[in-house]
Amino acid sequence: MLQYLRRLTCNYRFFQNSKKIYVLMFHKVNDLNSTYYPGVPIKTFEQLMQFVKQNFTVIHFKEIPDFVENKLKKPLLIITFDDGMDDIRTHVFDYMELNQLKYTINIDTKILIDGKPQYFIQIYDILNHNSKPISYLDDRYMEHPIQISGEKPAKVESAFTNVLSRLKKHEKEDFIARMQQEFGVLQPNYTKVLTKEWIAAQKDNPLIEFGSHSHSHPVFSTLSNDEIIAEITESKQIIEHILDKKVTIFAYPNGIGNSQSDQLLRQVGYEYILYTQDKLNIKATNKFYYRMNMYHASLERAILQMLGILSEIRKVKQKLWN
Ligand SMILES: [Zn+2]
Repeated sequence: MLQYLRRLTCNYRFFQNSKKIYVLMFHKVNDLNSTYYPGVPIKTFEQLMQFVKQNFTVIHFKEIPDFVENKLKKPLLIITFDDGMDDIRTHVFDYMELNQLKYTINIDTKILIDGKPQYFIQIYDILNHNSKPISYLDDRYMEHPIQISGEKPAKVESAFTNVLSRLKKHEKEDFIARMQQEFGVLQPNYTKVLTKEWIAAQKDNPLIEFGSHSHSHPVFSTLSNDEIIAEITESKQIIEHILDKKVTIFAYPNGIGNSQSDQLLRQVGYEYILYTQDKLNIKATNKFYYRMNMYHASLERAILQMLGILSEIRKVKQKLWN
């Protein structure tokens, strides 16, 4: 299989086009094997990075202008991490140093103040707690209960994500506080996140580039323009203060944005705007980038996803069976 994928990578017609750029999006990398929102296993991540190193030219966003004009033997690829998981420090950092691979970390800066992950991850962390109710209903914010047992984890995750997406900040906090009680998990073992100190220590690390992932990770389609401006300026200021350099990359929370929010991002000084659509970028000079969401347990699936083949298969399946 791996041999086949390697040959496919070499022959893939898009690869001849040096303007094409691959952008990968990771979150967690660990061996915890969580039911909800699991990480990419460490071994899979490392094997994938070997594949990437052999077959791609790995760069930072700010290097794109230097590379697009050149004819390259290997296509361009950018590795990104969202949500500021501590997994980056514990399971990614050393491996990337050893292999001299560049990557981009997009921080939702509220985590640096709270010392815990963004709200969606708090929910998944509570769901991963052992004593799960069979179904869950918070009648203040939900019309119908979400079935937890017997449903596919991804379906449960997205049901909770949908509820939380609509709530304002204080409502999210209310919702999570009640969920903690109902799940009997008053002191949740929340996923660890990166700290200001660690980020500051990477200030001059040539392998790491930092971007913003908003401040409190809201879904932008639910915000007013003023709320968007507050989110994108606050996080920019916090990261720029820590690093003492300009932050020009912005990754949309949940990958959701629109032309109006793009315009606001441009106004406050972001140059590279990252969406999540499991699509390849045909023009590297676009300054809007789609990213492949990487969460696969096996190397083969991860490579198929990276090359855009899994999303093509999904499209074909939908066409044939719906
Ligand atoms: Zn995120």
